[in-house]
Amino acid sequence: MRRIAIVGGGQAGLPLALSLLNQGYRVTLVSNRTPDQIREGKVMSSQCMFNTSLQIERDLGLNQWEAVCPPVEGIGLTVPHPEQPGAKLIDWAHRLDHVAQSVDQRVKMPVWMELFTQRGGELLLQDAGVAELEALAESHDLVVLAAGKGEVVKLFERDHARSVFDKPQRALALTYVHGLKETPEFSRVAFNLIPGVGEYFVFPAYTHTGPCHIMVFEGVPGGPMDCWKGITSPQEHLATSRRLLDTYLPWEAERARHAELTDANGVLAGSFAPTIRKPVLRLPSGKRVLGLGDAVAVNDPITGQGSNNATKAFKVYFDAIVARGDQPYTEAWMNETFETFWRYAQSVVTWTNSMLTPPPPHILNLLGAAGQCPPIAKAIVNGFDNPPDFFPWWAEADACEAFVGSKMAELAPA
Ligand SMILES: Cc1cc2nc3c(=O)[nH]c(=O)nc-3n(C[C@H](O)[C@H](O)[C@H](O)COP(=O)(O)OP(=O)(O)OC[C@H]3O[C@@H](n4cnc5c(N)ncnc54)[C@H](O)[C@@H]3O)c2cc1C
Repeated sequence: MRRIAIVGGGQAGLPLALSLLNQGYRVTLVSNRTPDQIREGKVMSSQCMFNTSLQIERDLGLNQWEAVCPPVEGIGLTVPHPEQPGAKLIDWAHRLDHVAQSVDQRVKMPVWMELFTQRGGELLLQDAGVAELEALAESHDLVVLAAGKGEVVKLFERDHARSVFDKPQRALALTYVHGLKETPEFSRVAFNLIPGVGEYFVFPAYTHTGPCHIMVFEGVPGGPMDCWKGITSPQEHLATSRRLLDTYLPWEAERARHAELTDANGVLAGSFAPTIRKPVLRLPSGKRVLGLGDAVAVNDPITGQGSNNATKAFKVYFDAIVARGDQPYTEAWMNETFETFWRYAQSVVTWTNSMLTPPPPHILNLLGAAGQCPPIAKAIVNGFDNPPDFFPWWAEADACEAFVGSKMAELAPA
């Protein structure tokens, strides 16, 4: 049977490795961390996943936490009033058609990695660089590099035409907590947009210590929410999280009044530039490596798409590998495989990037109209599961006006 090597045991690499094993391929997984190091390490993501991605995991029997992880039943948007402290300019929420879920990657990845070895996969513990990739390419029919934001992915050439930004667009921070108050009626991603300052969203999730909430801060660079550098302790990180809520979002501060960290590693701060890379790496020997997941298409987390993209991408790659049969994995095949994913992902990238710059008038109008018109809110909320549905109306003012008009008409009495 054909031999496939996958470098990186994350949200993209591990399910690909497990599904190829199921299909009878001989699979080597290269990880720079052991299961225990991941388990005992810092949080890495807020990893909210929507139904299409969850279904891919269910189909593979990789939904081990579905029964214990609290559901995310909807999404809400709040914009504070710029002139009236404590008041809201926009405030609406709508249920998702199907629930979303977020399972801490520290819980998920070690279990999947152990499952991989139990099922006969070969786990190599090493921090792969060029020499290791060369060795893998020599002994395997295909090498997939799915190393997330690891240094090694910088070997892929940046795709200048598809990368809009060359710098981080937000200062990011995560705070995992217990004791945060639930939202009324249904659980949700409570997304707060503070113009000029940044965004804060919070939603239920599942971690080592059970159900929790994840607070995500997205600070505009140089602004008051870009304030995480120099914080040295988890308690100081929590105190900073509280201070930001007290200052800008009193309703969220109220929900978080009794929140405590899930654990000392339940905090993260950092930043990265959203980047698209060319999917094929030519090694010095001339052998090729195919990029997958964040390694070749990394988005800002503002729209919560990275784990969803990683999942949808591995599925495209899996189908392409199986369909390839015994034919060689050529550079042309690698490019085609990525392009199949890109036909979907380009909408995700365009939409996500649009959230990082000040919204044009038609988007302000759309977001405001959603508060009066539930069909608009429903379309926005469910678009998170399939961002191509946002187009053309998210990008084009005329199409947006027509979309808003058609949804408003749904409300009008017959
Ligand atoms: C603050 C934040 C919040 C987020 N929130 C969400 C969200 O709500 N929803 C969502 O869908 N996505 C979210 N994401 C994004 C999501 O976590 C990632 O897009 C997703 O994990 C990418 O999967 P991946 O497999 O490509 O990379 P990863 O999951 O990062 O896995 C890469 C793996 O490769 C390993 N590795 C790295 N270098 C090497 C090497 N040289 N050799 C061997 N192994 C190596 C790493 O240790 C890691 O285990 C968020 C990200 C951040 C930073």
